[in-house]
Amino acid sequence: MTSPAIVWLRQDLRIADNPALTAAVASKRPLVVAFVLDDETPEKWRLGGASRWWLHHSLQALNRDLKAKGVTLVLRRGRSDAVMLDLVRETGAGAVFWNRCYEPHAIARDRALKQSLATQGVEVESFNGALMHEPWEVKTKSGAPFKVFTPFWRACLQVEMRGLVATPKRINGWNGEVASDDLAEWKLLPTRRNWAKGFDRRWTPGEAGALEVLGAFIDEHLKAYADGRDLLGEDATSHLSPHLHFGEISPVQVRRSVETAVMHEPALQRGADKFLTELGWRDFSTNLLFHWSSLPEANWRAEFDAFAWRDDDAAFVAWTKGQTGYPVVDAGMRELWATGYMHNRARMIVASFLIKHLLIDWRRGEAWFWDTLVDADLANNAASWQWVAGSGADASPYFRIFNPVTQGERYDGDGAYVRRWVPELAKLDEEFIHQPWEASADVLAKAGVALGKTYPEPIVEHAGARARALAAFAALRAED
Ligand SMILES: Cc1cc2nc3c(=O)[nH]c(=O)nc-3n(C[C@H](O)[C@H](O)[C@H](O)COP(=O)(O)OP(=O)(O)OC[C@H]3O[C@@H](n4cnc5c(N)ncnc54)[C@H](O)[C@@H]3O)c2cc1C
Repeated sequence: MTSPAIVWLRQDLRIADNPALTAAVASKRPLVVAFVLDDETPEKWRLGGASRWWLHHSLQALNRDLKAKGVTLVLRRGRSDAVMLDLVRETGAGAVFWNRCYEPHAIARDRALKQSLATQGVEVESFNGALMHEPWEVKTKSGAPFKVFTPFWRACLQVEMRGLVATPKRINGWNGEVASDDLAEWKLLPTRRNWAKGFDRRWTPGEAGALEVLGAFIDEHLKAYADGRDLLGEDATSHLSPHLHFGEISPVQVRRSVETAVMHEPALQRGADKFLTELGWRDFSTNLLFHWSSLPEANWRAEFDAFAWRDDDAAFVAWTKGQTGYPVVDAGMRELWATGYMHNRARMIVASFLIKHLLIDWRRGEAWFWDTLVDADLANNAASWQWVAGSGADASPYFRIFNPVTQGERYDGDGAYVRRWVPELAKLDEEFIHQPWEASADVLAKAGVALGKTYPEPIVEHAGARARALAAFAALRAED
């Protein structure tokens, strides 16, 4: 009798365009399809709260989809290398298939596991299921990894992307006994207070949800994406990031669908080019993490190690709660808390505010995002925080300090975003929505706003904070 194969799903929670799954089906072995919840290997980067909420629903959807194809998902918990060795022993599997992950801890684990399995005579096959191009496929002319996005993306466009793989029609599940955990017992959902009520309304985790989001985005928003993507009050971006992070859809599927849509409707070209470039940033961040594994912990530019960050817990808490007194910052932080997501423009504004106005170490912001974002992604999060801080590879210069008032006026002109997430300011005139402290007592009273009572006074004054940040940066330069 042919021994079974194990398909180990990790950040590829889908059936379509899943190279490892399709190859395993093609091997003609009966399959055990498994997912392991591992809180040990990633150490401080174990899944955050919002990601756990997503994972619960995504696994539920995946199991439903797999059952319809003929196999039940096996759930196990523990150190994933040990769990996989147990599973191979219990099932007598002769082969293991997985799609590659690129976090440093995952790479180290997979390498070692591949070796142990090989010594036991178990075949291991790994695939690219997560990226358009893997980090070693795109190099500079001299063979070095790219550090700057624009030439990286230009080079990507010259490298052929892998083709879509066929979706298995049926999956021949192994019919031996194999124990599986009960998903509910993993307690991935909020246990005490249900802070995720807004998530339930906002998201549909799972492969079907991802495909629906992609279709709706192409139909309704792709054309205007280049102009609309920065506008905070509009729903102009794809919202695919959590689906992509958990691999409910692959970037290859996304890109191919967008290219097909452009073939049918050439007017989509401009929006599509911009959108695919953004998708390129995802590959780029993974490329950075792969080649510079300390990216989530250490300044990419070592001169930032001497930066005099402030230890201001009260300011940090005000930032996390959306109580800084700067409406656009507070709107972003409250959107994050309510939905597990924040608009990209708002992410840049709130990150800049934390790092530059409050002089708080970017790693504290990175950790908060890690816990609260449903799309928390080690590469994208670390690369983006370092980009805003100015400490990163292809970074925004430190002296580019966003003014939260002008950013608000530019990207949320009518204040719709602020009104939505900071309802205590909803009745304020457009003129003052981004700077309520400039309104007269009369105007504030009419809008029902009592500064310092219903809404905070700014926790720092912009011009002073800007000067302080520039001085801190100048001190850093002087030490060079
Ligand atoms: C401080 C900060 C932290 C961030 N943390 C994360 C994170 O943890 N996870 C995450 O996926 N993105 C992160 N981003 C990038 C970006 O904000 C989100 O990917 C984007 O807002 C997701 O919304 P969307 O799917 O509608 O994006 P769209 O505009 O529709 O873009 C399509 C896809 O491209 C990718 N993408 C877009 N912009 C970026 C970018 N700048 N860097 C990398 N990939 C990008 C995403 O996968 C996204 O789903 C962060 C940005 C900042 C400034």
